[in-house]
Amino acid sequence: MNKPPIANRDFIHSNHRAAHATCNPDRYIARVAFGLAAWRAFTRRGASGRFIGALFVAALATSAGAATVELPADIQQGQLVIARIAPGNEVELDGRRLRMDTEGRFVFGVGRDAPAQITLEVSHPDGSTETVPVAITQREYRIERVNGLPQHTVTPNPKIAARIAREQAAVGEARKRDSDTEYFLHGFRRPVSGARISGVYGSQRIDNGSPKSPHMGLDMAVPTGTPVHAPASGVVSFARTDLVLTGGTVLIDHGFGLNSSFLHMSRVDVKVGDQVQRGEVIGAAGMTGRASGPHVHWGFNWFDVRLDPALLPKPHD
Ligand SMILES: [Zn+2]
Repeated sequence: MNKPPIANRDFIHSNHRAAHATCNPDRYIARVAFGLAAWRAFTRRGASGRFIGALFVAALATSAGAATVELPADIQQGQLVIARIAPGNEVELDGRRLRMDTEGRFVFGVGRDAPAQITLEVSHPDGSTETVPVAITQREYRIERVNGLPQHTVTPNPKIAARIAREQAAVGEARKRDSDTEYFLHGFRRPVSGARISGVYGSQRIDNGSPKSPHMGLDMAVPTGTPVHAPASGVVSFARTDLVLTGGTVLIDHGFGLNSSFLHMSRVDVKVGDQVQRGEVIGAAGMTGRASGPHVHWGFNWFDVRLDPALLPKPHD
């Protein structure tokens, strides 16, 4: 970042100190993001931006004493956010009230195309409310061309298209689970280790020459039969061997609306309702469904919001 002028540098610095005074050293408060948003507006938009920046500073000054939301330092499109607020407050995002544990911890997901700022709505125990803007770092996504896919999976006939729709609805149902377990708190390992990354999150896909929806997971190329490990503990919420697009498909519910999905598996070793531990083998890699070679596709969702597994926190106990 360019050096801010004196007024803004002091502004950001004083918020850093506030963060250190009230939070763990590895966390920052929303107001830092808030200050950065003001700073970006200030630097990009010239005179009108300066006016907006001044408004942000004014708003900050009048919100002193309001609830502090602890957030990660930098939040990107596609990121899982684990946040905290003083217990007793309630938080909503896009009209959804976020599940909260007894320590005030809550989670939300930031979509692939989320705008540069989203807003948390906080309700305090005394009935007052507060809006907390959260700055979202915008990403650029790659274009990926994939050829050699089974053509019936790229341009399905109406009968197969109807079956695909039914299968996707069943997966969608599994993603509505909102359990109170907090398996996500201990971080996530890769489902296979040492694999070549053959596809990344968010890239625009062109399959056999036809533009398709973006690729919403992490592809790890490994030989068919390579064991696939649970990245975190959880409960199996979906397990099928024969889906048209995704072949052998497993979903694990990690709690609070967070779930992992594993696609194209050659073998599925678990069934719905099974409790799995982090590292446990849930099946084997393959190329069933719409795949041009053996790999594990790892998807990660917050309800129906698809997130980037590459941004998940690493395991820590
Ligand atoms: Zn994939």
